[in-house]
Amino acid sequence: MLSISQFSRDFFNLFYPRLCAACSRTLNSAENHICSMCIWRLPKTDYHLQNDNPVIRRFWGRVSIESAASFAFFDKGEAIQHLLHSLKYAGNKEVGIFLGELYGNLLKQAPLFTACEAIIPVPLHRKKIRSRGYNQSNLLAEGLSKAMGIPSYTDFIERRVATSTQTQKSRYERFENVENVFKLKGKQVKEKHFLLVDDVITTGSTLESCARCVAQYGDVKMSIATIACVM
Ligand SMILES: [Zn+2]
Repeated sequence: MLSISQFSRDFFNLFYPRLCAACSRTLNSAENHICSMCIWRLPKTDYHLQNDNPVIRRFWGRVSIESAASFAFFDKGEAIQHLLHSLKYAGNKEVGIFLGELYGNLLKQAPLFTACEAIIPVPLHRKKIRSRGYNQSNLLAEGLSKAMGIPSYTDFIERRVATSTQTQKSRYERFENVENVFKLKGKQVKEKHFLLVDDVITTGSTLESCARCVAQYGDVKMSIATIACVM
């Protein structure tokens, strides 16, 4: 038998259907943000279970990283791209928190990631925050923090250099001077092992410069988690 709240939720859904952020199908009352089929079909990497994987290899010889993993492979035109688009360009903040929680539930059980003590989302430049209204990495970090039970510090570092447009990001990443993109904000924390979080990893240059900046804090360890990775 349906409860009253279940009934009103289904009734509300009839007129204002909640849609899957990946496939746009109507969600049933047990689903939130992404339908079960899309979650099941996401091309997951399982890199959080692999000490040596293609994501951590991107940092070899560049910066010292304990563990690195991405939730899913970035497939153009597929669900993962729709989800990230919804998060970054359609104002769907909830899907960011949801994806963060989804991955956080896996990471908290992964021996490679249990030593992480605090999360640092990759910051956006203030100009980008002004145009988008929020930093998508902060939302992913919020979900990860909730699932993993560790704090997220959104004011630990800041981004000093702005990228002009998102479409130029990969080119920018390839050629940017990795020094001085980020700066420590002077916050003092007790944690020593940070999980750096971004939405997508391509070449890894952004995360590398982020890690170099955090390393200036002294005597820290760093791991990396992203929602998607471009192979
Ligand atoms: Zn779906």
